[in-house]
Amino acid sequence: MTEKRITIVEKILDANDRLASENRRRLNENTIFAINLMASPGAGKTSLILATIHALLDQSVPIGVIEGDTAPVTIDADKISAVGMPVVQINTGGECHLDAVMVENALDQLPLATLDLVIVENVGNLICPAAFKLGTHSNVLIASVPEGDDKPYKYPNIYRGLDVLIINKIDLLPYLDFDMDYFRQGVEMLNPGLKTFALSCKTGEGLEAWLSWLQATKPS
Ligand code: MG
Ligand code: ZN
Repeated sequence: MTEKRITIVEKILDANDRLASENRRRLNENTIFAINLMASPGAGKTSLILATIHALLDQSVPIGVIEGDTAPVTIDADKISAVGMPVVQINTGGECHLDAVMVENALDQLPLATLDLVIVENVGNLICPAAFKLGTHSNVLIASVPEGDDKPYKYPNIYRGLDVLIINKIDLLPYLDFDMDYFRQGVEMLNPGLKTFALSCKTGEGLEAWLSWLQATKPS
């Protein structure tokens, strides 16, 4: 029985990978750089997207956003829409992650030819979003200071597959027992040399380095 179940899971992931490649092809065709933004709930995914949009708006970088939520709400999508960027809300109907089919359907609804950057806000969860490829170019995780410094040790899989790590809410460091060295040691063990930005979406501290990386990495 177990063997059969493993085969089925492998088939699902295979089919997902094929669709993810198709999504990637479509993004490349439109010279779009796409990010899979992951984090636990409340880490600041939407805040980082909004801060990024505000900062890049001046340089007229058109950004499309795909918002993943398990519940049928548009709270985050409304915030993106309010700043005038195209946004598609995906309600996963209880699923705790996005997959390549959902992203394919969302891409259908975005004006791809006009966009430079697509940010996919994955469902707030540190476990299965890591297992499903979406076709995006870069896996970015936000770890926020209030979550604690032990998360790399407890959720190693998501850290192993990252291209970029953002440590958010550093303005709260003086008030919390967050051991930055211990946290960074855990990350280094799993993903040596991982590009990391420590910042605060609230105060704006550290945002500049993240934005410069984004500007340098996306196709111009
Ligand atoms: Mg959000
Ligand atoms: Zn899931």
